[in-house]
Amino acid sequence: MTFKAEYIWIDGTKPTAKLRSKTKILADGAELPTWGFDGSSTNQAEGHASDRVLKPVASYPDPIRGGDDLLVLCEVYDIDGTPHESNTRAALREVAERFAEQESLFGIEQEYTFFQGPRPLGFPEGGFPAPQGGYYCGVGADEIFGRAVVEKHLDNCLAAGLSLSGINAEVMPGQWEFQVGPLGPLEVSDQLWVARWLLYRTAEDFGISATLDPKPVKGDWNGAGAHTNFSTKAMREGYPAIIEAAEALGRDDKPLEHIRNYGAGVEARLTGAHETAPWNAYSYGVSDRGASVRIPWQVEVEQKGYIEDRRPNANVDPYVVTRLIVDTCGAALEKAGLV
Ligand code: ADP
Ligand code: MN
Ligand code: MN
Ligand code: MN
Repeated sequence: MTFKAEYIWIDGTKPTAKLRSKTKILADGAELPTWGFDGSSTNQAEGHASDRVLKPVASYPDPIRGGDDLLVLCEVYDIDGTPHESNTRAALREVAERFAEQESLFGIEQEYTFFQGPRPLGFPEGGFPAPQGGYYCGVGADEIFGRAVVEKHLDNCLAAGLSLSGINAEVMPGQWEFQVGPLGPLEVSDQLWVARWLLYRTAEDFGISATLDPKPVKGDWNGAGAHTNFSTKAMREGYPAIIEAAEALGRDDKPLEHIRNYGAGVEARLTGAHETAPWNAYSYGVSDRGASVRIPWQVEVEQKGYIEDRRPNANVDPYVVTRLIVDTCGAALEKAGLV
């Protein structure tokens, strides 16, 4: 007998990479082998030397096909065994290893928008719905668009063994959020990519598409972000480490280095309006949803916990955002003796 393994990888499309996948039939009990693909069709190679290598790095029960079938997340390599330039997971592995003793945890809030044809789900033909105000965490057919897809996606993620911690309807009609974590940097990023794949795949069966476009509708409509919540062991145990992490993200050239890697179009989303801080002015504050980094109010009360980096776009690469945060905050906490 056989089972189906859906090999999933991240391509080389710029400025925002896309997910790709294809199916391999394997004999029952078989190990997950290295596989290959045509990199010239995924912006990962030229046609005259097009072979690229897929190395399985994590696998999950496939909730769509069921049975013994698997979803298999892969890293992309060149045929000489070096990580392909699009392989951002390889760089995260090194940084995560270097700061492993600090026991970093991440919870990422993935916002996204459903589309049907050219319009966000819930937007009337040739016009606009009522202004924002009633949609966030709403209920009822006049406020909620796509709940059947959202529920199915949640069930699929849980059946795949992903650590989702919640879902909610967002501020714009057709806009939703799910949260992954708290988990270590590699685990949260792997699971977020697989949860994104499951989102597109689940919505496909409803004839609906989902987008991580950070500003899907221009004008007075909220953008879509990927707030990234972060803690180390020292931050979960005391307030000085919380403050040092929030300070470190604002030091020297760090704000720009992070912003440049927080997803294509981040300047268009971080305008200072719609619960954002302007992209070119770093700030942090307790309970402040208009700051770059928020310290949740209960973290100040309890004098320990985590911080929320509100800047990453919905279309950010989680391998990149977690690497930058671990690197910037890890080095600063180490220097300050807060480990
Ligand atoms: P918001 O109030 O910003 O909408 P959410 O409830 O959507 O917050 O998301 C908060 C995220 O923070 C969740 O993914 C949760 O798992 C994560 N989180 C909670 N505690 C920690 C922690 N100590 N370290 C990192 N992430 C955490
Ligand atoms: Mn949230
Ligand atoms: Mn949100
Ligand atoms: Mn948030």
